[in-house]
Formats: sequence, C-alpha cells, structure tokens
Amino acid sequence: MTDLLDLAEEREEEFRRAALAALRSRHRSGGESTTHCKSCGEPIPEARRQAVTTDHCAFCASQIEGGR
Ligand SMILES: [Zn+2]
Repeated sequence: MTDLLDLAEEREEEFRRAALAALRSRHRSGGESTTHCKSCGEPIPEARRQAVTTDHCAFCASQIEGGR
C-alpha cells in the first residue's frame, strides 16, 4: 500500500516537472499548441495528430489514459 502511494506521488511529481518544462519550452518556441505534447514538450507526429485529437504524445497519452 505504501509502495503504491509512493509510486503515485513519484509519478505525479514527474508529471508536474514535465508540465512545467513543456510550458517553458512553449514560451521559448513562441506558442505552438498541438504540435508538441502538453506534458513533456515532445513533438507530436503529424500522423498521430491527424489520427486522433490529442494534446499529448503517444507515451504521455498512455500514461494519462492508463491511469495507475
Ligand atoms: Zn509527452
């Protein structure tokens, strides 16, 4: 139980850091929106953006949708 909580906390912190980094990089690159993942700032491939409406790369989307 404690292990699960630790893991969740760790992941939350990781996400917060990634979100901040993404915000910072977005400011730097001048306001691109959906071309880059909102969580980690990685570029989202054109094919993925056309296939699904998403603001996240495949990895972050799976993290978010996959939940725990
Ligand atoms: Zn991402």
